[in-house]
Amino acid sequence: MQHKEFDVVIVGYGPVGATLANLLGMQKLSLLVIEREGSVYHQPRAGHMDGEVVRIFQSVGLADEIVATAYVNPGMRFVNAAGELILDWPRPKEPGPEGWHPSYRFHQPALETSLRRGVSGMPDVSVLLRHEAVRIEGKGDRVIVGIRDLEGGEERQVAARYVVGCDGARSTVRRAMGVELEDLKSHQQWLIVDVGFTQGPDTLPVETIQYCDPARPVTMAKMVGNRRRWEFMLMPGEKPEEMARPEAYWPLLERWTTPEAATVERAVVYTFHSVIAGDWRRGRMLLAGDACHQTPPFMGQGMCAGIRDAANLAWKLGAVLRGRAPEALLDTYQSERAPHVRTFIETAVRLGNLVNVTDADAADRRDAMLRREPQVMKTPAPPLGPGLSGTAAPPAGTRARQLVLADGRRSDDAVGPGFGLFARAGLAAAIDTDLPVFTDGDPAVDAWLDELGATAVVVRPDRYILGIANDAAALSALLARIPVLEVA
Ligand SMILES: Cc1cc2nc3c(=O)[nH]c(=O)nc-3n(C[C@H](O)[C@H](O)[C@H](O)COP(=O)(O)OP(=O)(O)OC[C@H]3O[C@@H](n4cnc5c(N)ncnc54)[C@H](O)[C@@H]3O)c2cc1C
Repeated sequence: MQHKEFDVVIVGYGPVGATLANLLGMQKLSLLVIEREGSVYHQPRAGHMDGEVVRIFQSVGLADEIVATAYVNPGMRFVNAAGELILDWPRPKEPGPEGWHPSYRFHQPALETSLRRGVSGMPDVSVLLRHEAVRIEGKGDRVIVGIRDLEGGEERQVAARYVVGCDGARSTVRRAMGVELEDLKSHQQWLIVDVGFTQGPDTLPVETIQYCDPARPVTMAKMVGNRRRWEFMLMPGEKPEEMARPEAYWPLLERWTTPEAATVERAVVYTFHSVIAGDWRRGRMLLAGDACHQTPPFMGQGMCAGIRDAANLAWKLGAVLRGRAPEALLDTYQSERAPHVRTFIETAVRLGNLVNVTDADAADRRDAMLRREPQVMKTPAPPLGPGLSGTAAPPAGTRARQLVLADGRRSDDAVGPGFGLFARAGLAAAIDTDLPVFTDGDPAVDAWLDELGATAVVVRPDRYILGIANDAAALSALLARIPVLEVA
């Protein structure tokens, strides 16, 4: 470890901490990452990620490697006890507006290994494995972090200008901040059984199936390679320690597979929570990922949300630490992200409530209601909450398209790590800006401006739209927000 004082200390090297380390390391900030465990956890929790997340990995040069070990997810089907389809959530088979497929399934240990490999080449990033952050305390314009070496037992202190708690559901940083979690009132126990097929091909459906059977709700998902996951809701009176035993889970699995055809790699009961932290920042301490929000996994969005946090926060921290923006910019992190993640949590709870019905009459009523017309679910795409764009209406705060430019480059690669301007050539010529500019001389830019009904669009480093403009005055006002001198 070269320094005793860092720009940022990240507590927790799970998927969110590792993504944030890549994004901050790319900006050449000095970082220390502290992680309790000695290596990447060998069992997956998350198995699904979306195209926005892959695009974030693109920004740190890791998307191709990560996608190479993933597969394109065809969707999710909800069936009732009689096997009838009651809700379909198909995913497009072609790349979408993010420039990547909208939905992938991946192997979490492989993903985390790639993220850590990205960090390992960064000279300004130090990583302490088997170390624990035990005390975090604000002192003037620094945060002092007490770190315990879990092998040797000794303790030391480092100072940081900011500390980000990416330390999961039981976050030490959140406790140090004194932040409470808002309870969104969905907490359920499910038995997760990860299985590896050892005999013959896996001929079960490739789609994730939600068996909305009141006798026992079950989720079945194909994982990467020969793996598959079953999730069984615990019924009243069932005890977690008993359900995680072979004599309890094999009878549940036998509808689909047998011990002759498959090995159980893990059986564990998780409690799915739905919570959101009241404050994501207090002074120089911030939270990201499960440390500040948790969702039931019915949409496969918990980790994705945390990775979006990292993308939103990283460039803002960089701008503030470099003195290019006032500290108030960091307040837009929660104001933009919290309403967005809340939409996903609430949708996941609603989906869970469709699946979790255990009363046979209520299940009949649900099926009758859904049968009236074929139900097809669409992935939510909420805009960011109020923040850098003030309260401007969409498309401000929505996702920017990733274009394939006429020269074959992806537009994010061409824009680079900062903001970018896409504009009609006439307006671009009338404006003095240091941003990379792409004009409608490129057919892809032309088509996107047509779609937006705009003469110019400014794209943020996290690839959300800062705003659109139709004349030089409006565009100048938009550009005046970069670097941010005034935060709405
Ligand atoms: C069954 C299940 C299925 C899921 N499926 C999906 C899915 O398909 N898609 C999806 O997007 N999400 C999914 N999720 C959610 C996803 O797993 C989590 O949202 C994600 O792991 C959160 O990442 P994180 O980095 O914030 O926290 P974590 O992964 O919990 O990482 C936190 C890290 O911090 C370390 N740490 C904690 N305290 C300290 C300390 N004091 N000092 C040092 N280190 C510390 C921990 O050791 C850990 O490595 C699923 C969750 C479950 C339970």
